Amino acid sequence: MIDVEQALELVLQRAGKKPMVTVALADALGHVLAEDITSDIDSPPHDKSLVDGYAILAQDAESTPVDLTVVEEVTAGDTPTRSVTTGTATRIMTGAPIPDGANAVVMVEQTAAVDGHANRVRLVAQEVREGQHIMRRATSLQSGEVVLSQGTPIRPIEIGLLAEVGRGQVAVTPQPSIALLSTGNELVPVHQTPGAGQIRNSNGPMLYALTQRAGGHPIDLGIGRDDEHALTQLVAQGLESDVLVLSGGVSAGVLDLVPGVLAALGVKQVFHKVDLKPGKPIWFGVLSGSDFPHDKLVFGLPGNPVSSLVCFELFVRPAIARLAGQRGDPLTTRSARLSADHYHRGDRPTFFPARWSRTEPAETDNQSGTGDRAIDVELLAWKGSADLRTLSSANCLAHFPKGERTFHAGDMIDVALLP
Ligand code: AMP
Ligand code: MG
Repeated sequence: MIDVEQALELVLQRAGKKPMVTVALADALGHVLAEDITSDIDSPPHDKSLVDGYAILAQDAESTPVDLTVVEEVTAGDTPTRSVTTGTATRIMTGAPIPDGANAVVMVEQTAAVDGHANRVRLVAQEVREGQHIMRRATSLQSGEVVLSQGTPIRPIEIGLLAEVGRGQVAVTPQPSIALLSTGNELVPVHQTPGAGQIRNSNGPMLYALTQRAGGHPIDLGIGRDDEHALTQLVAQGLESDVLVLSGGVSAGVLDLVPGVLAALGVKQVFHKVDLKPGKPIWFGVLSGSDFPHDKLVFGLPGNPVSSLVCFELFVRPAIARLAGQRGDPLTTRSARLSADHYHRGDRPTFFPARWSRTEPAETDNQSGTGDRAIDVELLAWKGSADLRTLSSANCLAHFPKGERTFHAGDMIDVALLP
């Protein structure tokens, strides 16, 4: 049986980046940039005032209070026409260009009116530094500079920056489409009360959410019955997407029909079963065809929800990232100090639901400065692959190699952080 690393390698080998497309800025959210973005402007476009106040010569404020003659008023969007010379000031608003000659801005709150002189302003006692409240031209962006690189996921922040540099259209690697199909005669949808022998379909909504978070576009195919004909139709529909993720029906039971149905539809098995607990029955295969540019990926995840989640995080999430034009890194692993003794016996490497925390004072954190300092980890009272409830208290999976051994409180073990 192959191990987790080999399995991930086989998955990533098949997960080619989707061809890039050009989309309108309004449709770019969630996709990944397929080009470097260069600024066509300086930002700010001129030396600008950061406050409402008066643009002055800092030297004029050496001994305050002092009265200055106001020569002009400039609001954002205006262009100054008068220079500021000694003894004068320009009334200026936030965002407006600094007039020639001025080298500081004083806030309006630090000034007072001069009785009987509408065109004069009094600087009250204060220290004025040269350059204060002025943002110099091109401080945040320089024309010609690369401001976003290819491979960057587009969030609302990137949408704003793309707008700032005039990109109404961008080349992206589009989000891959991920069809989701939960199989099992026992499954009922979430709004239904299970009858005798039935359970609710928890995998469907969970896999939908996992897909969204992983950067894929989920397409819910609902529940498929353990029936060759019904499954064949739904699987054929799912194969129109870039990826098909099934749950259930891949173990050794009499109604585990998924591998047979996939084979009949031309999906070639790459592996079935990985040396892993939970999640051993996972099935992975590809469909190649001349009418689509890339292999379609098919994952058959085991039906138990914890197994489904672990397999998704280990294999499906990195595959989605690759298709979307990103690296597809495995879960981040950290070294953690076990909080209590734990006897482990297993014929497979095990990912055990656990909770990490930082118990040391914050100063020690700062001393290391690396952020990868050891953390503490507590194993949860996990009741097996169907126990989502305990998993909901977990923020990581403790990794135990195969074999039999007692791990002691204080021992260092690896934990995979859950996103
Ligand atoms: P299977 O992989 O089909 O043999 O299913 C393994 C276990 O997971 C069985 O106890 C199923 O009832 C359960 N199971 C399968 N699919 C789901 C699902 N979508 N949601 C919750 N439990 C499931
Ligand atoms: Mg089943």
